[in-house]
Amino acid sequence: MSEKTKAELLKEKLFIDRKNGLRSASDEKWEKITAFCEGYKNFLAKGKTEREAAKEAIKIAEAAGFAPYVQGKKYEAGEKYYVNNRGKTVAFVVVGKNTVDSGTMITAAHIDSPRIDLKPNPLYEDTEMALFKTHYYGGIKKYQWTAMPLALHGVFAKKDGTVTEVCIGEDENDPCFVITDLLPHLAQEQYKRTLNEGIKGEELNILIGSRPFKDDKASELVKLNIMAILNEKYGVTEEDFLSAELECVPAAKPCDIGFDRSLIGSYGHDDRVCAYPALIAITEVENPEKTAIAILTDKEEIGSDGNTGLNSDFLRYVVRDIAEAQGVDYTVALRNSKCLSADVNAGLDPTFKDVMEAKNAARLNYGAVITKYTGARGKSGTSDASAEYVAYVRNMLDEAGIIWQTGELGKVDLGGGGTVAMYIANMGVDVVDLGVPVLSMHAPFEVVSKLDVYETYRTMYEFCK
Ligand code: MN
Ligand code: MN
Repeated sequence: MSEKTKAELLKEKLFIDRKNGLRSASDEKWEKITAFCEGYKNFLAKGKTEREAAKEAIKIAEAAGFAPYVQGKKYEAGEKYYVNNRGKTVAFVVVGKNTVDSGTMITAAHIDSPRIDLKPNPLYEDTEMALFKTHYYGGIKKYQWTAMPLALHGVFAKKDGTVTEVCIGEDENDPCFVITDLLPHLAQEQYKRTLNEGIKGEELNILIGSRPFKDDKASELVKLNIMAILNEKYGVTEEDFLSAELECVPAAKPCDIGFDRSLIGSYGHDDRVCAYPALIAITEVENPEKTAIAILTDKEEIGSDGNTGLNSDFLRYVVRDIAEAQGVDYTVALRNSKCLSADVNAGLDPTFKDVMEAKNAARLNYGAVITKYTGARGKSGTSDASAEYVAYVRNMLDEAGIIWQTGELGKVDLGGGGTVAMYIANMGVDVVDLGVPVLSMHAPFEVVSKLDVYETYRTMYEFCK
């Protein structure tokens, strides 16, 4: 091999040099990556809604020795527990050797994803077909949700206090549901609409049946027959829809993508692709110096408000409970805490490169993405992580030999977005976004790279160990 020139050596020393992580991954590492991702695919399949993901996460944590939080109990170093907030947001805690006024190590990811919710009065009959009226949840391209099998997940909460779970469309023997679209032959007028209006919110009506109840007098017999089926199966009447949370999600299962199986396609990567790594990492943490907290939250996709969102006081109170039991000040604990807001970023898509600025775009297979800020226009609506904190994080990543990169949410002035980072930062915690790049984000079927999932898991573990 010829010797390197002075310029080549200097470039090595002074320039950023990021490479596709799979170029140098050993067979042994690839095996670890794929094994981890099998667990992730299973988590995806079992947790398509925030309630299901919370439940599945608790199951995994309990198997690793986590127990439900007991209010007022003083926990010893090394003890593991979880705080369940209404079955939709869960904080997993491993108590550190130091009291929490020295700070905690927080990882935060969200387990809600864009979807199609039913309205409070969803059920109606038109043209002798029964349908559900819906109200979409989160930022979706509405036209993407038509003409594909959908599953219905959620709960009916009845006046007597009982809660009945609903999950139809996941078992291969289950029926599915569908939002119909207009045939191209008759779409001349629809074609003139903008893509955003291609399918309108009030056109996201879900087809749920067409068989009338047997009777030759009464009207709305298809609707009646559906209601009779629901009454028999769940004991509900039409009024019970008001106190239900029923969510339509794609019925498709997660699967490998590509001849080389390097990618995973699934509904709901955003943000289970960070929630699962954060969860598995904290279940593997033993006797950390500082208390480790992994919080899997609801409501991120609609702005984090509400009592199960991270703009609530829930996380603050989780930290305060520990601080009070230890006799230390929780505001000091928060001020000294560090957080990785584990959320996805947009991956550079070969078909839509124009929206990204190449030097600052995240790429698939280049590892976990640090996103210093999100927001829109002049960095509005974000927490811009401090230089000092980003230095701390990148040093940690390099020390551990983790494959990582930086990302931005597209070109300046083109769009933007937000994560939970700012809400945690507003509590006085040091926060930066770190997660997985995604293709087709918020589509019914999103794509991520297996290597990036694995490196994000390694990051979460390194951070809170
Ligand atoms: Mn997200
Ligand atoms: Mn999102």
